[in-house]
Amino acid sequence: MSRKLYHGAAYYPELWNEGVIEEDIQQMKEVGINVVRMGEFAWSNTEPEKDKFDIEFFTSIINRLYEHGIETVMCTPTPTPPRWFSYGHPERMYVDHEGKVMDHGSRQHACTNHPYFRERAALVTENLARAVGSLPGVIGWQIDNEFKCHVSECMCHTCKEQWHDWLKNRYETIENLNEAWGTKIWSEYYHSFEEVPQPGPAPFLHNSSLSTMYQLFSMEKIAEFSDEQAEIIRGYSKAPITHNSSIAFSVDNERLFKHLDFASFDTYAAYDNFPAYLINSDLWRNFKKGKGFWVMETSPSYAASLESHGTPHPNGYLKVEAAAAYALGAEGFCYWLWRQQRAGCEQPHGSVLSAWGKPTVGYQNVLEVEQLRKDIEPVILATTPSQAQLAITYSDRSKAFLKTEPHRNLSHRSLVTDFYERILTMGIHRDLIPEEASLDGYKVLMTPFIHYLSSEYIKRAEQFVKEGGTWIVGPLTGGRTEEHTVHTDFALGELERISGADVLFTYPMDDTGSIGRAFDVSAPLGMWSSVFEHNQDTVVGTIEEGLSAGKAFITEHALGAGKIVMLGSLPLGDAGDQLIQRLVDHYCVGANVSLRTDVTKGTIVAPRQGDGYSIWFVINMDGNGGSVTLPKEGLDMQTNTKVNPGTLKLEKFEYRVIQFNEK
Ligand SMILES: [Zn+2]
Repeated sequence: MSRKLYHGAAYYPELWNEGVIEEDIQQMKEVGINVVRMGEFAWSNTEPEKDKFDIEFFTSIINRLYEHGIETVMCTPTPTPPRWFSYGHPERMYVDHEGKVMDHGSRQHACTNHPYFRERAALVTENLARAVGSLPGVIGWQIDNEFKCHVSECMCHTCKEQWHDWLKNRYETIENLNEAWGTKIWSEYYHSFEEVPQPGPAPFLHNSSLSTMYQLFSMEKIAEFSDEQAEIIRGYSKAPITHNSSIAFSVDNERLFKHLDFASFDTYAAYDNFPAYLINSDLWRNFKKGKGFWVMETSPSYAASLESHGTPHPNGYLKVEAAAAYALGAEGFCYWLWRQQRAGCEQPHGSVLSAWGKPTVGYQNVLEVEQLRKDIEPVILATTPSQAQLAITYSDRSKAFLKTEPHRNLSHRSLVTDFYERILTMGIHRDLIPEEASLDGYKVLMTPFIHYLSSEYIKRAEQFVKEGGTWIVGPLTGGRTEEHTVHTDFALGELERISGADVLFTYPMDDTGSIGRAFDVSAPLGMWSSVFEHNQDTVVGTIEEGLSAGKAFITEHALGAGKIVMLGSLPLGDAGDQLIQRLVDHYCVGANVSLRTDVTKGTIVAPRQGDGYSIWFVINMDGNGGSVTLPKEGLDMQTNTKVNPGTLKLEKFEYRVIQFNEK
């Protein structure tokens, strides 16, 4: 990819006639769209009959767009196998947890593990890659589309066989599996791998190990499919490959992006929940650290399907969404979709042009984004996102554990997003990092809501602490083993051994009247909690009331040059927010976290680093305006005028770009 900022849209020329396509290209040029993403649902266009491939249509569209200065991210069409694939073949289809077999007519209806699906997917991708892979207009590839966005783990017969193979590979002997899962319970004992069921219909809950392992199996299989597809494309194309994912889908994003070239995500977060939008940028930047990520899909105004719709963005919001994405590391910002569809189940979805070719309610906002893109491109290309000093570990594997064991309907996504929002609101520049990410460059590491922490992770975090880092662990972290069982040595296993905390018991604190006090704040405590022995040397937070009055819920233990802080419980309500904020503040100050501002709630600062200077993108996200204190004199990059130290005020949905010299 050339070094520029992309502003794009999903495009479906296969749905329109020549006259409309010509109009689309002219309109794209007017708007400033410089990239389109195409082809992800076009299997029946590229292979209308089995083994009859017709790629000519896309070849000519790609070339034509390129002549007009519009580049293409080409997609493999595998989320929608055609009718010749599905007709009369229920055994090739996805089967849900209730045993219902999917039929044709929507998407993700096929079992992606079925050998025939893999064979046909490989063929269509190979033909496509061979035909368009070296066209100058193709600057990137997207494999499939939103893996596992509608479906989760397939329960078909093929998957059952592969599940058994996966188990054999993981456990080697059935005795190992029986021991690991504790299958003497409820007469679950298995005499062979073939006897192990899938977590399908059952009168009550399945064994936690069975449920969690089946999810990990499914996550691995879909990533293997992605790897397979990428290998085929690489045989014919040098263009980098991605997939458009999300934290909402049943995939392990860290694993999925391991063998892809760049990371991208889709998001349709509502404007009044902008942290749910921003969390993606702070996470996706770290799946392929050092490489720009793409916002592959977002709505120019509102998402919708036949059954529901989002609220249209207020005018001005789209521009700050784009500003935040680019400032936080995006190289591409793309809409779903260019032209409203005239058929199918997503006809009502927001677009840039209507089905009748007129500008939509979001159109002016798209023009504002294009103006922004032009304005900030030089400064973005000359700088990179600043290395954060605080990291929060994000784990999709922990999402699987939490899906198996959600206590009272805990949602991984909400827990993580709420936690993230606190750090965001405190004005601390932050990274969300996958489990296996390097901890270099960080001063504070936070590990909330991860039922199972791998030995490898614990060792790395321990080393990070010994070298001077502060590791804040919890809540809800470390209480389960790799096999999704309870530890039998210590409540928190290996983690407890190094944490210096002595866990007395664990239990759900919600509604027990428990109150904890730390940092001069008393707050109700909730969530499944670890209660620590009250030790004068390590106690930071004391339980004042409730079943464990007098014991501890926060401890701090020195290790090497750093410290481990155990947060055993979740402080709740406004007082809880305040307590957590003081805790984070205390340890960030102690760890000398300097990439932090006093920006007001609803406004963000995205810091970037240049050669001998730094840049602040100050962006009002909530439409209420805001302010931040500039620590020293800066240069306003939009007006090329000096700005004094002190308060910088922002209007509704305004953004400012301030440069600070470091010399
Ligand atoms: Zn299946």
